[in-house]
Amino acid sequence: MALLVQKYGGTSVGSVERIEAVADRVQRHREQGDDVVVVVSAMSGETNRLVALAKSMQEVPDQREMDVLLSTGEQVTIALLSMALKNRGLDARSYTGSQVRITTDSAHGKARIQEIDTEAMRTDLDAGRVVVVAGFQGADELGNITTLGRGGSDTTGVALAAALKADECQIYTDVDGVYTTDPRVVDSARRLNKITFEEMLEMASLGSKILQIRSVEFAGKYQVPLRVLSSFTEGEGTLITTEGNEDMEQPAVSGIAFNRDEAKLTLQGVPDIPGIASKILVPISDANIEVDMIVQNVSADGTTDFTFTVHRNEFDQAMEILQAIQAELGARGVVGDAKIAKVSIVGVGMRSHAGVASTMFKALAEESINIQLISTSEIKVSVIIDEKYMELAVRSLHSSFELSGTGVKAEAE
Ligand code: ASP
Ligand code: MG
Repeated sequence: MALLVQKYGGTSVGSVERIEAVADRVQRHREQGDDVVVVVSAMSGETNRLVALAKSMQEVPDQREMDVLLSTGEQVTIALLSMALKNRGLDARSYTGSQVRITTDSAHGKARIQEIDTEAMRTDLDAGRVVVVAGFQGADELGNITTLGRGGSDTTGVALAAALKADECQIYTDVDGVYTTDPRVVDSARRLNKITFEEMLEMASLGSKILQIRSVEFAGKYQVPLRVLSSFTEGEGTLITTEGNEDMEQPAVSGIAFNRDEAKLTLQGVPDIPGIASKILVPISDANIEVDMIVQNVSADGTTDFTFTVHRNEFDQAMEILQAIQAELGARGVVGDAKIAKVSIVGVGMRSHAGVASTMFKALAEESINIQLISTSEIKVSVIIDEKYMELAVRSLHSSFELSGTGVKAEAE
């Protein structure tokens, strides 16, 4: 017997039949004696349809009215699911975000949850009811409807689980868990039974296809055990949790993440004097460009090369900024490359295993893949390589760190 918050995504409630299947699952949990709070997304495609409708009305839709509009998608699913539950003889009640008193700030379209009043939900649960809550929405102090940003139902689920001190927040989606890497790149990628919040955040490039990353941060902060499962198949899914003592035998590497979204820029031959890094990076951050890796060479003849990476979409803008400051800084030149990829090995086990980075570099060397940049954190080693070798690198690392499993593939998104 447990208190569960179960969140079902758009594909899981994409049709009447699928909503019926969700109701069956909730019923099974009720029969086992679990208390269940269900959070649902809008039926798949619905939020996009509403966005398009708004844009046909106003080129830049009014933000307050946009939230009123978008919140209706979830309102449809809570009502339908509650009907399906009632058909099964269960007592259920649907609530919009504002009805269940999810109070947010007033930042329409990207509101942050400030407070959740759990009293009414507790009363329902104590009376044996299933509480069905619309994801992705709340209301500000004045009662204006707000939404939490695309994919925000995950955050609603985690926030409710935190506020109710639920035993688990279960995110039902169309994949059966978090994999060692993207199964579309490596056939033998394996579902992980367990992963830590930190690892999940470092694997954001893989995980963000499954979960809104903000919800993982939230779950980590409030220590809400989070489980990703498929609503179409039975299985344990992947539990995302804190590191436990039983993880002594943790493998060094849990997964291989990658992304093609970065670009690198190098300012060559800048004088090696105090203040140079800030002179280069302040104009970049003033332009709201986020910097990922930063590498400064040792100096030779009083000058050094300064390299950093940015999102590929911001490459041209960053390039223009560097060209504009080049003369003032006395740099020799500016070069850049947008055809790069970042490949990372991630694992909390790295803390207690030596030689992880060298295993990585050896595997890449054996494939003759040149490493352009390296950065490390306590639980991650990332390299920048030529984008054309990305898949080869991921496959060779996946096998070097013996991550392969049974070859069961996750369902495609
Ligand atoms: N329906 C919203 C969206 O499509 C929220 C969610 O599904 O989590 O972004
Ligand atoms: Mg989603």
